[in-house]
Amino acid sequence: MSSQLSSPLYDIAVVGSGFGGSLLATIARKLGRSVILLEKGKHPRFAIGESSTPLTNLLLEELTTRYDLPALTPLAKWGAWQSVYPDVACGLKRGFTFFHHVLGEPDTPDPDHARQLLVAASPHDRIADTHWYRADFDHLLVKHAQTMGVDYLDEVDLHGVCQAEDEIRLAGSRHGRELTVRAAFLVDSTGPRGFLHRALHLPELPLPDMPATEALYTHFSGVGKFKDSEFEPEGEKPPYPIDAAAVHHVFDGGWIWVLQFNNGVTSAGVAATEDAAARLRLPEGEAAWLWLLDLIPPLQTQFSAAKPLRPFVHAPSLSFRSGVTAGERWVLLPSAAGFVDPLFSTGFALTLLGVARLAAIIQEDWGSGQFGARVRASAAVSESELLATGRLIGSLYTAMPDFPVFVSLSLLYFAAVIFSETARRLGKPELASSFLLHDHPSFGPQCRRIFGQVLRNRGALNATGLHEEVMRAIGPLNLAGLGDPARRNWYPVDARDLYESAWKVGASAGQITALLEGCGFRS
Ligand SMILES: Cc1cc2nc3c(=O)[nH]c(=O)nc-3n(C[C@H](O)[C@H](O)[C@H](O)COP(=O)(O)OP(=O)(O)OC[C@H]3O[C@@H](n4cnc5c(N)ncnc54)[C@H](O)[C@@H]3O)c2cc1C
Repeated sequence: MSSQLSSPLYDIAVVGSGFGGSLLATIARKLGRSVILLEKGKHPRFAIGESSTPLTNLLLEELTTRYDLPALTPLAKWGAWQSVYPDVACGLKRGFTFFHHVLGEPDTPDPDHARQLLVAASPHDRIADTHWYRADFDHLLVKHAQTMGVDYLDEVDLHGVCQAEDEIRLAGSRHGRELTVRAAFLVDSTGPRGFLHRALHLPELPLPDMPATEALYTHFSGVGKFKDSEFEPEGEKPPYPIDAAAVHHVFDGGWIWVLQFNNGVTSAGVAATEDAAARLRLPEGEAAWLWLLDLIPPLQTQFSAAKPLRPFVHAPSLSFRSGVTAGERWVLLPSAAGFVDPLFSTGFALTLLGVARLAAIIQEDWGSGQFGARVRASAAVSESELLATGRLIGSLYTAMPDFPVFVSLSLLYFAAVIFSETARRLGKPELASSFLLHDHPSFGPQCRRIFGQVLRNRGALNATGLHEEVMRAIGPLNLAGLGDPARRNWYPVDARDLYESAWKVGASAGQITALLEGCGFRS
């Protein structure tokens, strides 16, 4: 090493410049803190985790409004994104599309939608969700952080951390020079098994209800549409174009995602239990992917001209939970504290919920005696959200061979997130105080009972009885006609559902009209 670089004492050091780290760093700076953001790589760079949801976008909008970051607000909706940032790639996400497959079986028509679930998230493109092309998206956020006054160092190789009485010190190197960074508080946003988890030798705990899972994924060019002609027969239009969505292909033991961006790139991959991953030989990379496509004929057709744009990534151990997530002068962002699975795209929402809590603590209690205790309490909330997500996703993995059960369980997710989004938009966040409503006085225990039943009785479930129980659980929260047999697993966004069930969120018809107008529902 040629020479030594030592930083001044910052209020906050944020390690990891994914969107979570950059956003938190920006907000902390906006709140008057001195902030340094440290990154081991260099933007633009590939990152996985791409699909947003209505709750994610609402949280992003709330954060950028509350902390006066108007340059970032357009990223919360497809239409605004396209007009303000046309050069920042993203994908149009109008909903959640699921298809069920039995591996190796030929494709057959499905006129009753028994092997499909289509849940729209937006009534039209302008206010639709997006898939974030992370190379562009994260680059934009880190540049924005710098313009807001965050000091940023990339290509930093951190190898140690030590805590002194009133500061925390990071030791590392950059471009051949030794580096010491000093800060009063440290936020780790380096992802699962990241910097602090390793540097502090934190224990790893199992996620109690999740099977061990693996993933194999990459980006492709040349991916076609999925059977589009079959799904648009005369007189029967799906609630949105099925590829303009997070498309999930579910099979016994795993599922495939397909996310199409507006720059010709498609993100696709598979997540599977250890047993299924071994059967599918996922560690073999591209060969395993091609073999899997062979087992699902319509997907094979969709990918017939596809070319991988980068090497396949095999992630041997997807879910993760750190046994310790906060200390006296540090905290792990939710995405560094744990991860469940990409199914249902919960990662962004959990990350942003954690960013929102930390931002409020920095705003209200920086320098007060409450600060440390509030940070630890926030980390405990993140852990309860992670565990609740694990229960849902673990149950869904169990139900993968039995699609009707999978669909019933999915309704619990959709009922909870639609209710939460509506309550927040009505200015009643207290009605939905926890992610997936896991601590809701009646819905929370009902979900736990249902998940417990599914996890205990793998393979021997009474699908009808379970569905009835799900319908009883979601009844008081169901704002979208979920489970109505007449919809045959296709759920458009229909304002009439909201008016009819407005009483469930204590809203008048006038308040629903104001909500719909406020969020741009009418195109
Ligand atoms: C296969 C897969 C698919 C997913 N799909 C979705 C999805 O569709 N929707 C969704 O909501 N969530 C998804 N997730 C979860 C999502 O990826 C995370 O929630 C999200 O990336 C968290 O963002 P982040 O900015 O906090 O961290 P990350 O995106 O993990 O960024 C971490 C940053 O830290 C940097 N870093 C790492 N180590 C160090 C170090 N030692 N020093 C300095 N810098 C370091 C990295 O280079 C990176 O820039 C998925 C996850 C996986 C694994």
